[in-house]
Amino acid sequence: MTLPPGCHATGLAVNLSGGYHHAKPDRGKGFCVFNDVAYLVQVLRAEGRLAAEDRVVYVDLDAHQGNGVCHHFRDDRRAFIYDAFNPGIYPAYDRAARERVDCTVPLPTGCTGADYLRLLELSLPGFLDSVRLAGRVGLAVYNAGTDVYAADALGGLGLSAADVLTRDLYTVGQLRTRGVSTVMLLSGGYSRESYRLVANTVVELLRRYGAGADSRG
Ligand SMILES: [Zn+2]
Repeated sequence: MTLPPGCHATGLAVNLSGGYHHAKPDRGKGFCVFNDVAYLVQVLRAEGRLAAEDRVVYVDLDAHQGNGVCHHFRDDRRAFIYDAFNPGIYPAYDRAARERVDCTVPLPTGCTGADYLRLLELSLPGFLDSVRLAGRVGLAVYNAGTDVYAADALGGLGLSAADVLTRDLYTVGQLRTRGVSTVMLLSGGYSRESYRLVANTVVELLRRYGAGADSRG
């Protein structure tokens, strides 16, 4: 796997796809043929870009629980999983996956942006700090599903477009403040506006952190 040159300079990459978080080790599930998150970590370790002892932080803010990622990392305690999701929707049956999450943030159906962002701010910084206490974090994977958007047919949550942008910038900012190399994946999004939500975030990330940007914060 060869990273584009800019990724090394900024410590931030965005894949305009990916985030296939439902695929399990032995089969695809939930619109996901293979699990790119597990593949990414495995390849980086095999190539020595991630040290064997390096920790990986996985922040899943797609509306659905990232069960496939949990199954892949079931016995890998170098992976630390934060997952905020609507527990009433797919894959609600997968209790084993939910038990693997290190920090679970259940979101009520119809959760507003204000409530969502408050829960995020209350839990994510402490989670990230706790992971860093006992070891180096070599990589963060941010699964930025836009199915949290109020008009999404599957997510069951109530965020506005502005809320989604705030969520993304806050999450990436928290990771960068801690100096963690981050890759953002788009994961699920089923409304007609999903592409606009993604574009809003990517444009702002480029402005803030892209090559030539003043801020590295
Ligand atoms: Zn989803």
